[in-house]
Amino acid sequence: MEILRTIKEVREFKRANRDAPLVLVPTMGALHEGHTSLMKIGKALKGKMIVSIYVNPLQFGPDEDLDNYPRQQKEDIEICRSDGAAAVFLPDDEVMYPGERFTAVRVGSLQDHLCGAGRPGHFDGVTTVVAKLFNIIEPTHAVFGLKDFQQYMIIKKMVEDLDFPIEIIGGEIIREAGGLAMSSRNKYLSPEERKRALNINLALTYIAEGSADGKLSADALISDAIAKYLSGIRIDYLDIYDSKNLKPVPRDLPLKGDLVAAGAFFVGSTRLIDNMRYTIR
Ligand code: AMP
Repeated sequence: MEILRTIKEVREFKRANRDAPLVLVPTMGALHEGHTSLMKIGKALKGKMIVSIYVNPLQFGPDEDLDNYPRQQKEDIEICRSDGAAAVFLPDDEVMYPGERFTAVRVGSLQDHLCGAGRPGHFDGVTTVVAKLFNIIEPTHAVFGLKDFQQYMIIKKMVEDLDFPIEIIGGEIIREAGGLAMSSRNKYLSPEERKRALNINLALTYIAEGSADGKLSADALISDAIAKYLSGIRIDYLDIYDSKNLKPVPRDLPLKGDLVAAGAFFVGSTRLIDNMRYTIR
């Protein structure tokens, strides 16, 4: 497996592997089974797989955890090796953002709700770095996790709008025993907080199953879920959205169509996100 640190090294790697499909799995490192599930999908495409590991400062707000974000480069490289990556791209800030920046990529209304509402600039940071990775690596395929469903939707739209010749593939959410969605940020949780965090999955399951029952409105389902499960957890947002355009569904009408119950929650000072997608006919 090759370790690539500069754009020139990526280009050389590409020249040497010209004819194979090239699959990119972009990550911020601190790799866990959520990431390795994406690598499995990448490997099944039978091309060459590049995993990028870069903690992108552009997508962190001023009060967020950029400096403390878990970094474990050695372990991550070994995980990529044993999961069949042909190369790991490990750029630093000098490689990704040399000099003054003038250009950013912004995908409009898909970022009005969910995480976009409370993290101004976050998705502009994500789309800008992903567009750069796409231009540097020129993959034929890229794999993103559906845990970050809004991110997945925004990247898909960016690719469509800007005509990137790249197929975007979504990987299902991988959960720990008990249902907590795997996340690099789970490392911040104390044992007690980890236990408390299991309620996030219970609340989303309650909302999704209750929606299928057809008797309760979004309003009723959400307030019941909060009362039953989320008393010890600070809610950043929690709602039911149309999963095609990420707009909140009407709060008082019967639920119908392709939906996603999604939320962000603070367990202690750790911000966790999760979602559940489902269809009501
Ligand atoms: P991150 O390193 O957190 O930026 O995540 C890199 C990629 O892994 C993103 O596409 C995430 O959606 C995906 N990912 C993170 N956690 C999970 C999970 N529990 N299940 C599936 N994909 C995940």
